[in-house]
Amino acid sequence: MGNPSAGRLRERVRGQVITPGSEDYDRARTVRNAMIDKRPAAVVRCAGADDVRAVVDFARDNGLELAVRGGGHSVPGFGTCDGGVVADLSPMRAVRVDPRTRTARAEGGATWDDFNTATHAHGLATTGGIVSTTGVGGLTLGGGIGYLSRALGLSCDNLVSADVVTADGNLVVASGKEHEDLFWALRGGGGNFGAVTAFVFRLAPLTDVYGGLMLYEMDHAATVLRAYRDAIAAAPERLCVFPAFHIAPPLPFIPEDRHGDRFVALVACWTGPPEEGERVLRPFRDAAPVAAEHVGPMPYPVMNSLFDAILPPGLQHYWKAAFAAELTDEALVAHVAHAPGLPAVNTAVHIYPIDGACHRVAPDATAFAYRDASFAAVIAGMWPDAAANDANIAWVRGYYEAIAPHSQEGGYVNFMAGDDQGRVRANYRGNHDRLVEVKRAWDPGNLFHLNQNIRP
Ligand code: FAD
Repeated sequence: MGNPSAGRLRERVRGQVITPGSEDYDRARTVRNAMIDKRPAAVVRCAGADDVRAVVDFARDNGLELAVRGGGHSVPGFGTCDGGVVADLSPMRAVRVDPRTRTARAEGGATWDDFNTATHAHGLATTGGIVSTTGVGGLTLGGGIGYLSRALGLSCDNLVSADVVTADGNLVVASGKEHEDLFWALRGGGGNFGAVTAFVFRLAPLTDVYGGLMLYEMDHAATVLRAYRDAIAAAPERLCVFPAFHIAPPLPFIPEDRHGDRFVALVACWTGPPEEGERVLRPFRDAAPVAAEHVGPMPYPVMNSLFDAILPPGLQHYWKAAFAAELTDEALVAHVAHAPGLPAVNTAVHIYPIDGACHRVAPDATAFAYRDASFAAVIAGMWPDAAANDANIAWVRGYYEAIAPHSQEGGYVNFMAGDDQGRVRANYRGNHDRLVEVKRAWDPGNLFHLNQNIRP
C-alpha cells in the first residue's frame, strides 16, 4: 500500500494507522501464535465503530485482504494477513454492565479479563473460556465453551444482540428482533459475517466458585477417565469438570520433585453454594488417589485465569479438535496411549463437557450445530521453541488421528488449525447450507474470509 493510500486511510480514522516502517509495526503485526509471521500493509488500531467501518470500506474499495482482530488468539492467525489491512479492535475493550437488566455490553476487542473484571464488580458473570486472555469476539462468534457452559450454555447462547459492521460498510444491530438471520449466523458461525463492534450478553448472578485442579498419576488415566465419564453424566449442571492432560509446571502445590512429570488432571468449577463444593466434587475427586491438588473457594475471575500463567504470548501453536457424542472405551484407549507423550509444559489436552444448558438449545436454533455432542476434545499444542515445530505438530496430528475414528465428523471451529478448512461443512453439518445463504446475503464477495470460511 503506497503512502497516498495510507494517507487516505489516516484521514478517515481516529485510531493509529501503522504501516511497515512505523516504529510500532512489529508489535502491531504480532498475533498470539508466534508461528504466524505476516506483514500487513496496514494495521489500524480502531478507536470506535466508525474506524471499523472506514477500514472495511477501504479494504473492499481497494481490493485489499481484510483481517479483523479481536483478542488475537486465533491459532491459525486469522487476525492478521500478508499485504492487506488489519482492523485491530483491541483498543475497543470497554465493558458496561447494567445490573438492572443483568446485561453487559462489551466492545468488540474486549478480552474475558476485561469482561470478568467489569461484571464481577456487580456479582454477575456469563460463559467465557478457560483462560482470561482470549478475546470475547472470536470466542463468542465461534460458540464459546468454558467453565459456565454446563450451567448457562455457550457464550453465544447468552448473546442478546451484536452491533455489526457488514461488508457494505453499514453498522447494523443483529438480535432476536432485528436481522434475525444474521444474529442466528453470528452465534457459532465465526467471523464470517462482519466485524462486531459490540456484544450484549445476558448475565447470571455469580461471585465465588469452588474449584481448581486435582492431579492423578498417568498410570491411573484410564480409571480417572472412566470414573469421569460416569460422574459427569450425573453431575449437577452448576458443576463443570473436565479431564486434562498436562505436564506439571513448577507450582507450589505440586511437590518439587514432580515438576515436569506428566499427569492426568480433573479441573473443576462449582458455581453452587461453596459449602456444597466438597460434596459435589467427591465422585470426581475419588476417581483415583490424588497426587496433588489445588481446590477451594475463589472468585470466578481467579478461576478463569488459573491457566493464564502457562500460556504466555509468544508460544508456537498448533491445535486439532473433535466433538464426541460419547467417550467410548476405544476413545479412552486412544487418549491413554497418546497423552503420556505430551511434548511441552504449555501443551494441553482438554476434554470439555458439552451438555446441560448447551443441550437445551436446538441444533438449528443457532449456527453451532453439535448440540448432540457430549464432549469437545482439543489437542492444544503450544511450545516455546520454533525449532521443535515439526515434532510438536506431528504429535498433535498423531493424537488427533487416533481419536478421530471415535469422534464425530466435525469439530469446534475455534479449536481448529489453518489446515482444517476442508472440515467446514462437517463442522456445521445441518446448518451449513443456511449459513451459506446468510453469507450470500451479507457478504457475497467473501470480504470476511480469514476464518473457518463459509464460502458464499
Ligand atoms: P482473533 O485472532 O482476534 O480472532 C479470531 C477469529 O474471530 C478471526 O477470524 C477474527 O476475524 C474473528 N473475530 C474476532 N473478533 C471479532 C469481532 N469483534 N468481530 C468479528 N470477527 C471477530 N475457545 C473456547 O471456546 N473456550 C476456551 O476455553 C478457549 N481457550 C483458549 C485458550 C487459548 C490460549 C487460545 C489460544 C484459544 C482458546 N480458545 C478457546 C479458542 C478461541 O475461542 C479462539 O482462538 C478465538 O477465535 C479467539 O478469539 P480472539 O478474538 O482472541 O482471536
